[in-house]
Amino acid sequence: MKHFDFIIIGGGIAGLITAFHLKEFKTLLIDEGILNGGSGAAGAFLFPKISKHSSYTNFINDAILESFSFYENIGINTHKNGVLLLPRDEKDIEKFKEYEKYIKLPFEKIKNGFFFKDGGFVEVDEVRKKIEVPFLEGIVKSLKKEKNFWLVNNEFYAKNIILATGYKEFLKIPYINIRPIWGERIEISGIWESDLNIYYHKNCSVAEVGEKLRIGATHKRNCLKCHENIEEANELIKKAKEIIDIKKYKIENIKGGFRAASIDYFPIVGKVIDVYKTLRIQPNIVKGELPKEIKYIEGLYIINGMGGRGFSNAVKCAKMLKNYILNKEDLGKIDTKRLFIKWARKEGEKFLRDFKEN
Ligand SMILES: Cc1cc2nc3c(=O)[nH]c(=O)nc-3n(C[C@H](O)[C@H](O)[C@H](O)COP(=O)(O)OP(=O)(O)OC[C@H]3O[C@@H](n4cnc5c(N)ncnc54)[C@H](O)[C@@H]3O)c2cc1C
Repeated sequence: MKHFDFIIIGGGIAGLITAFHLKEFKTLLIDEGILNGGSGAAGAFLFPKISKHSSYTNFINDAILESFSFYENIGINTHKNGVLLLPRDEKDIEKFKEYEKYIKLPFEKIKNGFFFKDGGFVEVDEVRKKIEVPFLEGIVKSLKKEKNFWLVNNEFYAKNIILATGYKEFLKIPYINIRPIWGERIEISGIWESDLNIYYHKNCSVAEVGEKLRIGATHKRNCLKCHENIEEANELIKKAKEIIDIKKYKIENIKGGFRAASIDYFPIVGKVIDVYKTLRIQPNIVKGELPKEIKYIEGLYIINGMGGRGFSNAVKCAKMLKNYILNKEDLGKIDTKRLFIKWARKEGEKFLRDFKEN
């Protein structure tokens, strides 16, 4: 029986970068493939977010800057040509005017939009090749706690498990409500007219990559039946035509996938809370009392809810998770705690009742 310090379940960008950060330990990443899930469908654009000043926007933009350094240090091309964020409609033009004073990153105003030199993308294939971690091809079907170890698939022991399973919730954790959002990335060949030294983002992201145009967007909530299809690809091209004059095109490939979003859009990172034990010692949490003590499931962690910014958020979140595990550094807004508190106030009473009855 093989023993590990960390087994990471899920080889999307969140699991991959987490495994990379924990390489100094005996670590194993398990999935059917690396960057095959939502991550495999991503345009993997790295670009700032604009909004009224908010902690969420700050988080996203810090993550963008960190991700450029992270990928570049490993020797991954970030194709940093800059991105032009364009307003979608008249209403957006007004909003953009309001947002201007909150923008902290350097920008230029172009065509009612904002051009950020800190905009680029990474190639999923290059990320897969250059971030090397110990990997096992397979699916985790069973996870049991035996004394101080987790037994994975009755085959491996691990002191710690990290769940990085994206929209597929391998373990149902009551307060973690992952919302799947479907989207597609397509590549077309053809004839178009535009200044494509830079990338664009409006209703979708558009970049010229080699001879092709890459277009990506995620948009359909809770559509588990969604699958790659030509109608949706044509819809994407329609959106891209609002940005670029595409005169002729042929769809070269379509890649669809789900990204995982949390209910408040912040990523979900940290140690998994033992809901029953925590509510038992302080039942008034369900009535709005703040938890004085949280009981955790020893050796069980999560990194999920990367949203539409997985290729930058995962860089920041994986580093924060490592610092949390090794140095108990605070996770702030991304800590699982905030979701637990919200859930407990709404569902905790019912949960305790049902738990006792069963
Ligand atoms: C069309 C599209 C376009 C996007 N564009 C961008 C973009 O431009 N920029 C950006 O930053 N982000 C973008 N995103 C979002 C980004 O792709 C996601 O945020 C990111 O991929 C999430 O990574 P993840 O590792 O959390 O999940 P995933 O990539 O979904 O990985 C989860 C993995 O867990 C595995 N898994 C689940 N259960 C088990 C199990 N029991 N055993 C083993 N493995 C298991 C799955 O097989 C999967 O590979 C886009 C997403 C889509 C769909």
